[in-house]
Amino acid sequence: MPLRAKVASSVSRTAAALSRAAGRGDGSVIGGWIGLKIDPDLLAHLSAGRAIALISGTNGKTTTTRLTAAAVGVLGPVATNSFGANMPSGHTSALAKAGNTPYAVLEVDEHYLAQVLEATEPHVVALLNLSRDQLDRAKEVSMMAQLWRSALVRYPELRVVANADDPMVVWAATPPENRSGALKTPTVTWFSAGQRWHDDSWVCPECGSPIERAQDQWWCTGCWLRRPEPQWVVEDDGVLDPSGAWHKVVLQLPGRVNLGNSATALAVAAEFGVRPADAVSRLGGVASVAGRYAQVVRDGRNIRLLLAKNPASWLEAFDMADEAPTLLSINARDPDGLDTSWLFDVDFAPLRGRQVLITGDRAYDLAVRLDVNQVPFRHVQTFTEAISAVPPGRLEVIANYTAFQDIRAELDRVN
Ligand SMILES: [Zn+2]
Repeated sequence: MPLRAKVASSVSRTAAALSRAAGRGDGSVIGGWIGLKIDPDLLAHLSAGRAIALISGTNGKTTTTRLTAAAVGVLGPVATNSFGANMPSGHTSALAKAGNTPYAVLEVDEHYLAQVLEATEPHVVALLNLSRDQLDRAKEVSMMAQLWRSALVRYPELRVVANADDPMVVWAATPPENRSGALKTPTVTWFSAGQRWHDDSWVCPECGSPIERAQDQWWCTGCWLRRPEPQWVVEDDGVLDPSGAWHKVVLQLPGRVNLGNSATALAVAAEFGVRPADAVSRLGGVASVAGRYAQVVRDGRNIRLLLAKNPASWLEAFDMADEAPTLLSINARDPDGLDTSWLFDVDFAPLRGRQVLITGDRAYDLAVRLDVNQVPFRHVQTFTEAISAVPPGRLEVIANYTAFQDIRAELDRVN
């Protein structure tokens, strides 16, 4: 590396360590920020010589990044931004901290994909899904898809691993020569991870015609866009690989969505030459991801933490949660997005019949929503009050970003 980059990298590590020592989080944002101030090309310098995978999408990217890093770990040390600092400052910090690793698996905020593609020149990029998120500031879904598409067109050799079940992703990932409906997409590997949330993909981004669905299939009624045949598929409690071999996946993480994330991780690792049979057992070693899915026992209650931050991820959380007492917590602070009207995009009916508690800064927004959905609930002021309001046994906690952090803090930063 050039001298300037070496200095920047060293200062970045020191700043991150100081920030950690001062008890101000893991320090990855400030460390990377300072490094990039000293050398704006630091991320490119730190990326050079590494085989890199980028993981992007609205939901599931932190978990999929963790699973992919575990799978690629078959080959050797992997640098990764495992705490969800997913902008260039976080990538810079993660690579500076890891030192010389042959591999890196980086979670990328979907808005930054073009910028990070340019800086890191990855071997492969995984595209998970696109759905509405943070209504007050995130881009419209179709604009995000257009940004991705424009970015990917500039790297015709880049390997892409993309979700065949999300029409917006398929539209963004399909190379120009395949858009007329030709079958061959040699640079793209398709996986099927399922898509429970359909409300951001009823209209074709190519031609504006309605998109129709039947079972697993979807197709545009007006043009070439349709579901490609996936090479990696979730089947029963395992994953089918492109050769037709089936691999049983035993996870500590709950829900069918994490089987889909496992299929994605195995598909990305295969792009580095990792055989799924060698990687699959490593996926089961992942117990929690930055506190998500963590289980804590407190006063006889087995508490499980599920993060859900937008309509698509709430649907997934309802699927993951057991039929057990459930605490919902909603804030609307800056990292959450300030607009809570998305609560009305979520159908809370699956919670009927469970004991439901609500808390958080915006508990009353939840109260109105649940009342409209005819789901009985009780408002509690604190997490401690919630614990004493439920019988011993499982308590599921579903919370959005800062509400989740508040509860983690109350549980002494479980991880
Ligand atoms: Zn169309």
